[in-house]
Amino acid sequence: MNHSAGRIGLIVLLFAAGLAGAPLHAQAPPPDLLIRNGHVVDPRNNIDGVMDVVIVGGRILQVGPNLTPPAGARTIDATDLYVVPGLIDMHAHVFFGTEKDAYLSNSDTAVQPDSHSFRSGQTTMVDVGGAGWRNFAQFKEQVIDRARTRVLAFLNIVGSGMKGGPVEQNLADMDARLTAMRVRQHPGVIVGIKVAHYSGPEWDPVTRAVAAGRDGDVPVMVDFGGHTPPLSLEDLLLTHLRPGDILTHTYAHVRGRIPIVDEDGRVRPYVLQARTRGIIFDAGHGGGSFLFKQAVPAVKAGFHPDVISTDLHAGSMNSGMKDILNTMSKFLNMGMPLREVTRSNTATAAAVIKRPDLGHLSAGAEADVAVLRVRRGTFGFIDTGGGKLMGDQKLECELTIKGGQVVWDLNGLSRPRWTEP
Ligand SMILES: [Zn+2]
Repeated sequence: MNHSAGRIGLIVLLFAAGLAGAPLHAQAPPPDLLIRNGHVVDPRNNIDGVMDVVIVGGRILQVGPNLTPPAGARTIDATDLYVVPGLIDMHAHVFFGTEKDAYLSNSDTAVQPDSHSFRSGQTTMVDVGGAGWRNFAQFKEQVIDRARTRVLAFLNIVGSGMKGGPVEQNLADMDARLTAMRVRQHPGVIVGIKVAHYSGPEWDPVTRAVAAGRDGDVPVMVDFGGHTPPLSLEDLLLTHLRPGDILTHTYAHVRGRIPIVDEDGRVRPYVLQARTRGIIFDAGHGGGSFLFKQAVPAVKAGFHPDVISTDLHAGSMNSGMKDILNTMSKFLNMGMPLREVTRSNTATAAAVIKRPDLGHLSAGAEADVAVLRVRRGTFGFIDTGGGKLMGDQKLECELTIKGGQVVWDLNGLSRPRWTEP
């Protein structure tokens, strides 16, 4: 296929896409862009090398060496930088609001998505469990429909969402059928079911979430622990959850939750078995759920997280977690290769939430792109126990593009000098 034929095909595709859904925010049309000479890492397409990326009409036109930009395209020089698909944060808390004592559901313990996303290379954030079937409409109106970030959701199995205290202990408000109904009303936006914080001895929250997940054809994410008496992690991973379901807070060691690495520093055999049967392990760093004592031996043994999410909220952002790039940098410094770190928050995260349209730079895909710098130097990284790991590399976001629009530009890579006309 020659260049002009490809372009005509893309224009037809763009026209069809335009008819399918008009943007909510009226904006100037995105400029045509050439991102030149960056090291492109697009794991889903098996691309890992210095190349150019051409973006036309808000979509990827082509990725390859020495491309000719369309007339009038703006050129972004990405020499010495990495060009990756827009990052997906699969575990965040963005149901921001003003309700008092509401924990992570319409509260100021959750955060506004656009305040955190683009500056860290993220174009998609997944709120996990802030809303349940009762208050999803409020979350959608208040956050999802207003954010420039693509905000998706795991519905809490609790109808009222993650409001803390007794609200999250109410078995009578955990309805699989109504939860699945809400999922089916918002396909592709509600992308999973969340179970969290239940402290009773019953398995009901998990079994109902799995029933809702089966009914709505979405995965279940479990924040496990704190049960009195404790429930078996082995039973959760090998019996209750289905392949494709997710354990979050993988590297936590908290009261009431058996850690994945045992006292001798070995990953428990049933955890390895769970991975083989398709259980997804999500980092879910957060404010209390990531210890180097767990992560370092696990990563050394090759037990890397499938997805490196933040568990972003007002607490974790100002402690050891900070942001998704700091969290990814920890794994980079523990020995996980950049390509794999990138894969986790692009191709893998997209596959887990069943949004195969996201997380890659295929021709025709919406142009969500992050341009990252790997800084070299001496850096310290803090875990949720206050322990520090020293490292020599750290990811920083130079530029973020969402749907072809430059939404973050740290050093003016996409801008002309002020002295130029
Ligand atoms: Zn969380």
